[in-house]
Amino acid sequence: MRLSQMLFVTLREDPADAEIPSHKLLVRAGYIRRIAPGGYAYLPLMWRVLQKISQIVREEMNAAGAQECLLPQLQPADLWRESGRWDTYTKAEGIMFSLVDRQKREMGLGPTHEEVITAIARDMIRSYRQLPLNLYQIQTKFRDEIRPRFGLMRGREFIMKDAYSFDLDEAGMKATYQKMNQAYHNILRRCGLEFRAVDADSGAIGGSGSQEFMVLAEAGEDEVLYTADGQYSANVEKAVSLPPEAQPSPFRQYEKKATPNTETIETLSQWLNCPATAIVKNVLYQAVFDNGITVLVLVSLRGDQEVNEVKLQNELVKLAGHYGGKALLALMVPDEEAQQKWAAKPLPLGYIAPDLADDYIQPQKGLAPKFLRLIDQTAVDLTHFVTGANEVGYHVVGANWGKEFPKPKQVVDIRKAKPGDRALHDPTQILQTARGIEIGHIFQLGTKYSQAMGATYTNEQGEEVPLVMGCYGVGVSRLAQAAVEQSYDADGIIWPVAIAPYHAIVVIPNVNDAAQVAAAETLYTQLNAAGIETLLDDRDERAGVKFKDSELIGVPYRIVTGKSLKEGKVEVVQRATKETQVIPIDEVVTTLKSALASATLS
Ligand code: ATP
Ligand code: MG
Repeated sequence: MRLSQMLFVTLREDPADAEIPSHKLLVRAGYIRRIAPGGYAYLPLMWRVLQKISQIVREEMNAAGAQECLLPQLQPADLWRESGRWDTYTKAEGIMFSLVDRQKREMGLGPTHEEVITAIARDMIRSYRQLPLNLYQIQTKFRDEIRPRFGLMRGREFIMKDAYSFDLDEAGMKATYQKMNQAYHNILRRCGLEFRAVDADSGAIGGSGSQEFMVLAEAGEDEVLYTADGQYSANVEKAVSLPPEAQPSPFRQYEKKATPNTETIETLSQWLNCPATAIVKNVLYQAVFDNGITVLVLVSLRGDQEVNEVKLQNELVKLAGHYGGKALLALMVPDEEAQQKWAAKPLPLGYIAPDLADDYIQPQKGLAPKFLRLIDQTAVDLTHFVTGANEVGYHVVGANWGKEFPKPKQVVDIRKAKPGDRALHDPTQILQTARGIEIGHIFQLGTKYSQAMGATYTNEQGEEVPLVMGCYGVGVSRLAQAAVEQSYDADGIIWPVAIAPYHAIVVIPNVNDAAQVAAAETLYTQLNAAGIETLLDDRDERAGVKFKDSELIGVPYRIVTGKSLKEGKVEVVQRATKETQVIPIDEVVTTLKSALASATLS
């Protein structure tokens, strides 16, 4: 491709709305253009990158026995009602764009395709003889993200590869999951990324087990906790650990003490001169279930610990049935305005005890009349502890469960694992932290969707049983940007060779020099003929501008038909290292061929 004939526009200035390097660089280098919040045009250079990634994904999926298809993006609400996800995906914090068509039918734009694929499986899979099956597609997904940002990293429209597997039983599903796990390792390795596979929370997709593939980068929105022995790594949302040992409480006598201005654990432990690990802290949440019922949740945990809200959400989903609901719509720490709606009297905030009386709740329709009290193991283990006195300015010390406070009933793991904690598998291993960008997520779904939607098959014994499913996503467009986030310098992007839009760019320093033009044209033709995807910068621009642009767009090799032409030589510059070689023109093709071959993994 000739730059003179391309839509090729680079910017000197960073776009005002871009916060992270990869976003700035992709806009400046003319790869993407913002059209709406979280909506980007993939310009010709970007489209080539996306196609290369898609091709690698395709090859690995096909090699693992999956088949490509393409499913509708416009999906009927009824299917989502069958799975029970319509409300959670369209109401409150739900991320599905929904609409009503001219026949007054409710529809949604696909954020994911479990419902559609399960409906197809229900209609078409009848017998065990048809199994196992694994279908995938590469397609635009729509999600009305609460905070679209960072360019392609969190778009409201983005490209995903999603695959869905159907097996005879749990064992078959696990075998398929392992194959996908391997395929994902291959995809990321071939794309030239540094990554880590981590234990993950299954979120709204559901199922029993899942892993995320994290590309390691400072700008990542996710935190990964891992051990140096390589035995453990997990998204902090899911991570488990041994908390630090609690220090003994200095209080032996149960007593109420005046503790003015001690709303925080820090001020309280200073005032009482006691360790934070001797305190039971109580945090108030407000949960709304899909049937509209609001429940006030009192979470108790050890003073030095923090609530893991993802774990809390999962516990609440498990308890939804008690309140007549199926799913959780929203979870928040109630602010003053929210408290006013239900509190019968002012709450002793900062001084709450695990037995805060239910009469703080003003009885009303749609509100559970009692606190849901959830206690983390770290709090249960404490004796002679300090906690609130349910009165502003006072705490109690030397308290015990089963004595001053009722024995905890609902004990749950609800604390956030932290860097510095000891690992469960080996307490000498200490959890370390890294930032990651979630590129892929694979799930063991089991029969969640097949059961809900009646997708069954007849097994060898003649019984009708539900299909056992898995699902597997890769964020193709997010991956492209993550590659840049992991590989750039002060001058621009440095693409991994396997996903670079082009392999080389031939730069003519002076288009008015006939010899330079002739040599460049020959090289351009020869390189492309040899399968080396090459650009030709034939624009009537200063040489400096052209060099800068070639660095900004990050193409792996630049060939310059400049000064050395007199000796029959050209300059070959490697983008990543800036290493420059001056070589005879007739060696350019072979030199680049071998350099590119060694840089591309298969
Ligand atoms: P996140 O936790 O980042 O919101 P998710 O867990 O909702 O992602 P999945 O439903 O697992 O994402 O989707 C599969 C993959 O699609 C993700 O691993 C990610 O790479 C990509 N992806 C998800 N949401 C977005 C988005 N808004 N923009 C770009 N890519 C996305
Ligand atoms: Mg995910």
